[in-house]
Amino acid sequence: MKKWVALVAALSAVFAHADNYPSKTVSIVVPFAAGGPTDRVARDLAEAMRKPLGDVSIVVDNVAGAGSSIGANKVAKAAPDGYVLLLNHIAMASMPNLLRKMPFNVESDFEYLGMINDVPMTVISKPSLPAKNYKEFVAWLNANKGKINLGNAGIGSASHLCGLMFQNALQIDMTAIPYKGTAPAMTDLIGGQIDLMCDQTTNTTSQIEAKKVLAFGVTTSKRLTTPALKDLPTLQESGLKGFDVSIWHGLYAPKGTPADVVTKINNALKIALKDPEFIKKQEALGAVVVTDKRTEPAEHKKFVASEISKWSPVIAAAKEYID
Ligand code: ASP
Repeated sequence: MKKWVALVAALSAVFAHADNYPSKTVSIVVPFAAGGPTDRVARDLAEAMRKPLGDVSIVVDNVAGAGSSIGANKVAKAAPDGYVLLLNHIAMASMPNLLRKMPFNVESDFEYLGMINDVPMTVISKPSLPAKNYKEFVAWLNANKGKINLGNAGIGSASHLCGLMFQNALQIDMTAIPYKGTAPAMTDLIGGQIDLMCDQTTNTTSQIEAKKVLAFGVTTSKRLTTPALKDLPTLQESGLKGFDVSIWHGLYAPKGTPADVVTKINNALKIALKDPEFIKKQEALGAVVVTDKRTEPAEHKKFVASEISKWSPVIAAAKEYID
């Protein structure tokens, strides 16, 4: 059976060429729940890439679970014909460090199509947490040691990594509550079922603005310029020296996707990244659309390799390997 799957995949790669690509719907697998920050980026990008890719329809397919490894694995094993793509984030760099048994290889099982954006994160809490500022927030955390629940989107997700760094910086252990994405985690945070979360601004900006959650810090070294977030202090300002986390999103195809199809998708991606409407939507959510050389497949691959090395000591220090 396995042989047949491999044969069909190889044949579709032979027949997939840019001349007639794309001739049917392209699907972008988002390895997290619908309605969350990664999903949000994917839906905006699908809209912006539709015309440049030849007015083809692009659908988003949420294949959530296990910190993105289920969806990423689906794309790694898909036919390499350019019709099933993966949009993932920093988990591409954290998974190889965290999971001892990876079902796929981040570096050799994908064609890299280019980077999309950099996205800051925010530390937020349930609305009923009795703190008006960062100092009171940390006092509450210290007073509630052993009872704090921290939501995340599974092992290796951006919220998991940020949560690990935050706990390490404060030296306070918290209980991780994994979800299939931070959209469902956000629902529970607003409802007070969990206490905290660190999540991308593409998910948190509107909830902070609507005062549905409390915000205590932004994870980047500089304050953000987004109107809704500009008054939020950085964690560095509040005393967490060197705390600087910004996550990114990239686009990937199964290994073996023909080079001319890769080039066609990369060209459409670069046009989308210059689309004023896409840029405006991303900026309103605190994200910065990438314009540098990391939009090129080879440069994005180099960047991800450097991120894998960057996160290795952080994860080793947290002793968070998963068998
Ligand atoms: N924000 C999630 C994460 O922590 C992913 C998501 O739900 O899009 O990685």
